[in-house]
Amino acid sequence: MKILVVGAGLFGAVAAHELAKQGHEIQVIEKRDHIAGNIYTEEVAGVQVHRYGAHIFHTSDQQVWDYVNQFVTFNRFTNEVVANYKGTLYNLPFNMFTFNQMWGVRTPEEAQAKINAQRLAVKTPANLEEQALSLVGTDIYERLIKGYTEKQWGRKATELPAFIIRRLPVRLTFNNNYFNDTYQGIPIGGYTQLVEKLLASPVITVSLQTDFFAAREAYLHDYDKVIFTGMIDQFFDYTLGELAYRSLRFDTEVLDTPNYQGNAVINYTDAETPFTRIIEHKFFDEAHTHTMQTVVTHEYPQEWSRGVEPYYPVNDPDNNHLFKQYRQYATEHAPQVIFGGRLGLYRYYNMDQVIAAALQMVATSF
Ligand code: FAD
Ligand code: UDP
Repeated sequence: MKILVVGAGLFGAVAAHELAKQGHEIQVIEKRDHIAGNIYTEEVAGVQVHRYGAHIFHTSDQQVWDYVNQFVTFNRFTNEVVANYKGTLYNLPFNMFTFNQMWGVRTPEEAQAKINAQRLAVKTPANLEEQALSLVGTDIYERLIKGYTEKQWGRKATELPAFIIRRLPVRLTFNNNYFNDTYQGIPIGGYTQLVEKLLASPVITVSLQTDFFAAREAYLHDYDKVIFTGMIDQFFDYTLGELAYRSLRFDTEVLDTPNYQGNAVINYTDAETPFTRIIEHKFFDEAHTHTMQTVVTHEYPQEWSRGVEPYYPVNDPDNNHLFKQYRQYATEHAPQVIFGGRLGLYRYYNMDQVIAAALQMVATSF
């Protein structure tokens, strides 16, 4: 078959790779001037810079871990995030170090008693605020969650789905690992080469700076199947209404100091600081920590509007419902199109989930 893949991000690249192995002829189009979508990394001042924010690969899915290890070698990076609340530092995720810094408690029993005294007792938390209060209580919610969450999402924590905060572990152990997964790391040499390798095939052609919407009808006419990893509402010209997204602005600079903040990721959890986190890229790979300069990125959350990059879907009930309507609409109005990835499936997917979804799509649709 002649297949068009729209988007050279991780979903598009895995799909193209697998379909090329089956012998199909693949054209990949990408509107940006580079491949790899949001996992794109590039060398700046001797270090791999994550242009679209910190990307740490973590998974408990053996099949996905084996899959990526065919193409790249991972370092042993473990994400250990520090939170800065009005100048006071706390360890994340919420663990015995955090509880000690917050309350002076030393044992799990003391920490649990503190949490129990402040936690909200609800069976089924209705929103992110209730979920956070029921997991860790008021002090941690006020200092480490509320401000960060409300600036990140541009809405009240009471208007956000509970699952977003369940991404973060809560532990009664001294363990600062941000993730619970079996495997974790960052590809040595960055992520872009992973996507380069996925797309390296004589039957895959990649065209950059090519927007699907510049020739929508011609593309739909010329290809047997289209795999679309952009926004599903844009694909249908917002016919059923706009889905909500959250955007970001990345402000990256090279500094003449070997060590700016001493850690890869520091979160600013108060409401007043306009950015959510500062990333110091050299600390993603120990091999780079000797360089005399450093590259840092401030991440500013932003409102999304048409034409702005849609980094996060806002998976609240209303938007999930609208997405379902688009899915139904798609089966009737674009049967030759398969929607995939974070934007096409409108899901807050991590990289490993995107890979699993792409492999599943190829297995079930071809
Ligand atoms: P994308 O990477 O968005 O790729 C889609 C591509 O399609 C883009 O390149 C886009 O330009 C292109 N495109 C869209 N529309 C068109 C069009 N009309 N024509 C042509 N091309 C088009 N995941 C983790 O596992 N660990 C992390 O630490 C992590 N950190 C993250 C931090 C941030 C700030 C963000 C935003 C995401 C993070 N993620 C992380 C998630 C990760 O980025 C995604 O899971 C993954 O990149 C999604 O791949 P994708 O192919 O679905 O989408
Ligand atoms: N979060 C928070 N304080 C933090 C870090 C995260 O309240 O210091 C909340 C916030 O609501 C965020 C969610 O936890 O959106 C998930 O955090 P994660 O680090 O997984 O976000 P991502 O890396 O996807 O932006």
